[in-house]
Parts: sequence; C-alpha cells; structure tokens
Amino acid sequence: MTETDRMLLWLRKTMAAAERDAEAAGGDEWRRQAHPSDTVAIYDSEDEPVVYDEGSPSEEQQAHIICNSPAAVLRRIAADRKLLELHQPVPGWPDECTTCLSDRGSWPETWSGDTCPCRTIRLLAESWGWSGEVS
Ligand SMILES: [Zn+2]
Repeated sequence: MTETDRMLLWLRKTMAAAERDAEAAGGDEWRRQAHPSDTVAIYDSEDEPVVYDEGSPSEEQQAHIICNSPAAVLRRIAADRKLLELHQPVPGWPDECTTCLSDRGSWPETWSGDTCPCRTIRLLAESWGWSGEVS
C-alpha cells in the first residue's frame, strides 16, 4: 500500500466515523432558542434539548456547537466526498489528477511522486487532521 493509498483510506475511514457520530447524534440541525432565565438551551429539530445548562456553554461556544450540528457535519462530509470523487488518478495516467489536470491546462498536478495525491486532497486530509507523511 502506498502512502497515498494509506492517506485516502484514513480519510475515508475518518469521514465514515464522523458520519456515524453525526447520524447517531440525530443527523439534524440544531438551534438556539430563547429561554426564560439564564439557562442555555440548544434544541434539535424535534424541539428536544441538546444542551441545557445554566450559564454554560458561552454564547460563542453555543454558536460553535450549532455550526457543528449533525446536519452541518453531514453536509460537509457529503461535499468532501464529492471532492474526493473529482480528484482521482486519470485512467491510464495514474500519476495525474483528473480535475487538477483540466483546471491547470498544460502541466497536470501529479497524483503520485513528490506531491501525491494532488494538493486539493492533501489539504482536505489536513482539514480532517491527517498528520501522516505522504511522499
Ligand atoms: Zn486534484
């Protein structure tokens, strides 16, 4: 298995695990709701409280929680999987990326070698916490 294969496998497994977690958390959109008293309340789409506490989390933390609600995570995973589909080795030219080849015109970004896979996929993996080396 090449380092590129190892990174892509890791990326797919990491996204699948995040998808399972988001679905287990309800898969829905969360929102803040005005609540009498200082009690913090974040609700799911069925008006069930997800976070219900006095004074914590802060407003900034609430915004962060809502921004990462299960539905938001599932949307990002779906978009990231589309990116993975767009950036594949060219059939018959396994060292070149299909999308980066067409976007760049004359010189394709290499799929293997010093920059494997293409920059888009390496940055995608980095956004998911990939810390391994790819050569
Ligand atoms: Zn690419």
